[in-house]
Amino acid sequence: MRVLGIETSCDETAAAIVERDDQGHGRILSNVVLSQIADHAPYGGVVPEIAARAHVEVLDRLIGQALQEAHITLDDVDAVAATAGPGLVGGLIVGLMTGKAIAMAAQKPFYAINHLEGHALTPRLTDRIDFPYLLLLVSGGHTQMVLVKGLGDYERLGTTIDDALGEAFDKTAKLLGLPYPGGPEVEKAAVLGDPDRFTLPRPLKGEERLDFSFSGLKTAVRQLATTLEPLSQTDINDICAAFQTAVADTLDDRVSRSLRRFRQSFPDVEEPALVVAGGVAANKVLRDGLQELCSENGFRFVAPPLALCTDNAAMIAWAGAERASDQAPADSLDIAPRSRWPLDMQSTPLIGAGR
Ligand code: ATP
Ligand code: MG
Ligand code: FE
Repeated sequence: MRVLGIETSCDETAAAIVERDDQGHGRILSNVVLSQIADHAPYGGVVPEIAARAHVEVLDRLIGQALQEAHITLDDVDAVAATAGPGLVGGLIVGLMTGKAIAMAAQKPFYAINHLEGHALTPRLTDRIDFPYLLLLVSGGHTQMVLVKGLGDYERLGTTIDDALGEAFDKTAKLLGLPYPGGPEVEKAAVLGDPDRFTLPRPLKGEERLDFSFSGLKTAVRQLATTLEPLSQTDINDICAAFQTAVADTLDDRVSRSLRRFRQSFPDVEEPALVVAGGVAANKVLRDGLQELCSENGFRFVAPPLALCTDNAAMIAWAGAERASDQAPADSLDIAPRSRWPLDMQSTPLIGAGR
């Protein structure tokens, strides 16, 4: 089973060819990603209109490149998969229409993929993990704890009630005058800072629910920065260190509750696993913290290679390959893009069906 995947939901234009054999082993034949970070950097965040235009300009070329790098033609592809949501609707339209057009012209089955399902299934491509497992998705647009029970069977245990974690990193960086995207900048500054000079809040810590909240933390950073104006480099480093420590501590509290919940729901799973995905998973301090939490609780910690944690099309192709291998019926070419699409809601509406 060989699938062409297309991803255009946010600020990465991506195309990939992925293979899945009958035993469920995955192999990436090509994985081309073009980030638009430079296009959006002057605005300090993703501008939807700029993103959609940029996808239109490069997608055809990237698909050609993905086929070329995999040394195949469209004839050798068994199915086409494209992200149908959630994301910025302008970008989704570009990828979805292109995927449908290729599927129609080449007479291949078409799969409309939920971007979050792509993230959720990635560890099965890289690490051959069996269901069920826990997924912590921490990106610029999402912060969710998901119970991955089976293919197409996902339960969202918790989500952010305000900002996504990556967004909190980006906004904190912006407040402190650091460039976009802020995550890596905050991490770099934090290494040089004193985490004990300031204490920032740990939102929702100790609460039974499995949700996340980060806007209070960002507000606390703003207040702190205002009282210190003008900020020295040492102030910035110390604030970043305090911020990152507060995030690590909050994640520790929230995630350990989810691990306990998983144990209660699936007492018979011998080697339970926690998987991380999303750009924030690049953060070494947070990653190390999760790793430690997992080993303390008898969980296996799985972090796919960074290039597969952030947005890419290999994960979309893989989700298509898993569905096609599972004999799932192909999706209708009338399927509409969906800017909001919770993972536990499977089908997408058809064009004209209203939303
Ligand atoms: P989506 O939410 O739709 O998946 P996205 O493009 O916002 O899309 P990613 O590309 O997965 O998400 O990740 C980008 C986010 O990850 C940004 O918010 C960025 O600041 C954050 N990030 C990247 N590296 C680090 C890091 N080292 N530490 C903390 N955050 C990071
Ligand atoms: Mg991105
Ligand atoms: Fe993503």
